[in-house]
This record gives sequence, C-alpha cells and structure tokens, in this order.
Amino acid sequence: MPSNAAVTDSYVCTSCGYNMAGYYPLHCPFCGAGREHFLTAEECSARYRVRSTPVADGVEMLQSVPRLGIEHAAYRIDTGDRVYWIDCPSCFDRRLDPASVITFTHHHFLGASHLYRVEFPAEVWIRREEVAMPLTCGFSFDLPFEEDFTRDGIRAHHIGGHTSGFAVYDFRGTLFVCDYVLFRNEGMIFNPYGPRENTLEGGIRLRRLLNDLRIETVCGVDYTMEYPQWEALFDRLAAG
Ligand SMILES: [Zn+2]
Ligand SMILES: [Zn+2]
Repeated sequence: MPSNAAVTDSYVCTSCGYNMAGYYPLHCPFCGAGREHFLTAEECSARYRVRSTPVADGVEMLQSVPRLGIEHAAYRIDTGDRVYWIDCPSCFDRRLDPASVITFTHHHFLGASHLYRVEFPAEVWIRREEVAMPLTCGFSFDLPFEEDFTRDGIRAHHIGGHTSGFAVYDFRGTLFVCDYVLFRNEGMIFNPYGPRENTLEGGIRLRRLLNDLRIETVCGVDYTMEYPQWEALFDRLAAG
C-alpha cells in the first residue's frame, strides 16, 4: 500500500470526488469512472476551492466549489481550544485555516485528508473497523478508535450499519450524520449503498441515541436542517 502520498502523485475523480492517494488506477475505485475524469490533486486545487458556510455557533460547512462529483460535505468545528473537521473536503485547498484533528464518520469519502494531514499537520481519526478497506488505500490514520469518546465537547457515537464502524457526532446541539440517510422525492431514505438490515438496525440505534441528546441542527451529506423538521422525516422513516 502506498504511503506518504503527496500532491504530485495523487488524483481526484471529478465524477465522484474520490481521492486516489498516491496511485493512478485505470478506473476510479469508488465510482468506476475512467482516467479521462481524473485530475491531479494540483490541477484540482487550481480549478476548485473549498467554501465554508456558517451553520451554528462554532460550526461551518465545508464544500468544494464548483461542486466536485458527489463529494460529501465536511464540517469545521472550532471548540475554542482546538479546530476539528468532521469528514474532509475532496479538494486540497491550502487557503483553509488549519485543523488539529480530522475525524471521520466512515471511510467512504476520505477527501484529501492524506494531504491536509501533512500540510497542517492534523491527526486523522476513524473507527478501527473502517481502517482496512479497499477505499482506504494510501490513507493514513493516527487514531483508530474503538470506543465512543468526548473531546473538547465533541462526542462520537458508534452507530454501525451503513458501514460497520459508522460514527455520528454531536457538538453543542449540532448532530453530524453524514450520509446515513438521504433525501429522495421530498422524503428521507436510509442510505441504500450498504447492508440493508444492518443499516436499519443502526437506524434504531440512532433513534435511541437521539432521545438522549438535545439536538437543534442536523449536518448531513449535502444539507443542514433544523432538527424538528429532520426528526419528523426520520421518525417517519424509522417507523417503516
Ligand atoms: Zn469516481
Ligand atoms: Zn457512505
């Protein structure tokens, strides 16, 4: 497995946003697109930038502009002590203020974390179940965690389901749920790109967890939403 991949030997698939960290395959490992859809990470940095949008006190949404494939939104949390990112933008944008930690919900979109990790430098955290996957080739993790934790007011909760090590996070009333659920036709569905039964069971765990949290805002894969509206849709989904 390649390691210490640099901006000069990394590629970004513009069809989906997946980063190939230090290797140049014939097809994107995530979406299957051919090399004609690839940019070098340097080309990507020249054509795209990362936009930050305020979401809540201390929380901003990070997204590549123009839109980069089906990139999943990342979120920046300034706890007052340290800056964390939850998930990571696909585009490597050196203009961003450094983060101390990049911690992931799951392994599907690791963005350009292999480059930010060195640039800032930042520690990269993810649940241990997520580490050794085909899509993690070329990425390094500093803290593969096995327990739920609280750091600087950020709490990680293992849900599993969509992927075995899927974790959601909350921070001061904001929930970070990435792509566990998606919006289709004005309703909500569980993410279909994973084991169905496990995803439903994880949904039940998430519902139980929400009973113990005081959430006001939800940060998702490409949206943010006030919690009551999100909860109504989630409850309808979870009720089957
Ligand atoms: Zn792709
Ligand atoms: Zn996913």
